[in-house]
Amino acid sequence: MLYLTAIETFYQQSQALFDVSFSLEKGEVVSLLGRNGMGKTTTIRSILGLTPPRNGQITFKGRKIQGLSSFQIARQGIGFVPEGRQIFPRLTVKENLLVVAVHRQSAERSWNLQRVFSLFPRLQERRDQPASSLSGGEQQMLAIGRALMTNPCLLILDEATEGLAPLIRQEIWDCLSMLKREALTILIVDKDLVALQKLVDRHVIIEKGRTVWQGSNKVFSADLGLARRYLGV
Ligand code: ATP
Repeated sequence: MLYLTAIETFYQQSQALFDVSFSLEKGEVVSLLGRNGMGKTTTIRSILGLTPPRNGQITFKGRKIQGLSSFQIARQGIGFVPEGRQIFPRLTVKENLLVVAVHRQSAERSWNLQRVFSLFPRLQERRDQPASSLSGGEQQMLAIGRALMTNPCLLILDEATEGLAPLIRQEIWDCLSMLKREALTILIVDKDLVALQKLVDRHVIIEKGRTVWQGSNKVFSADLGLARRYLGV
């Protein structure tokens, strides 16, 4: 579904990615791991066209996407839950969900308000409240619900559980497990290695802007030296 080959990305003159290469097959859940500042967010920004790569190739569903605008890339079927949520604070919960549905892909099993509300019942209770009045956890649920309303083939989450209370975090992980059971393809960055290991099929490790290791969750979990060496845990 998604192929990155030898991606190089810069912030002005400063090179952040030197050689990032990995792929995601349909229905796979893959984590991007690495210490702080190693290039995980930049990899996501490169895929989404927010910081377009200078070299390398990215294909999504068989089509080259680098060079397209981030709007065009999103419309190919990539849903994004950014770090810090970035919902529309003055719109109600319902409006936040409906506003993105205008530009969405058609899908076999379309997302609608009812499906999002059954995934996150708290959002239903607060459907007519401004998004700014929600708790941090509820805002995160709204950000995920909003990404789902675009009917994505690929969902990308960057630090979706960051700063949330443990119970709310667990709700987000449960929701991601449910989406995995529905065979949604997911690329995720998160600091909670234990939760990631319960969810993902494969890990990709980035160090200093390069993919340095990738393999199954089984192999990763069996080799404690990997986490020690690349993640310092
Ligand atoms: P973290 O877990 O801390 O978010 P990360 O792995 O996501 O880390 P990136 O945010 O992708 O790492 O950063 C990769 C490199 O690019 C770092 O050296 C960082 O300082 C640099 N960088 C990130 N954003 C910018 C920016 N807007 N301008 C210049 N350099 C940046």
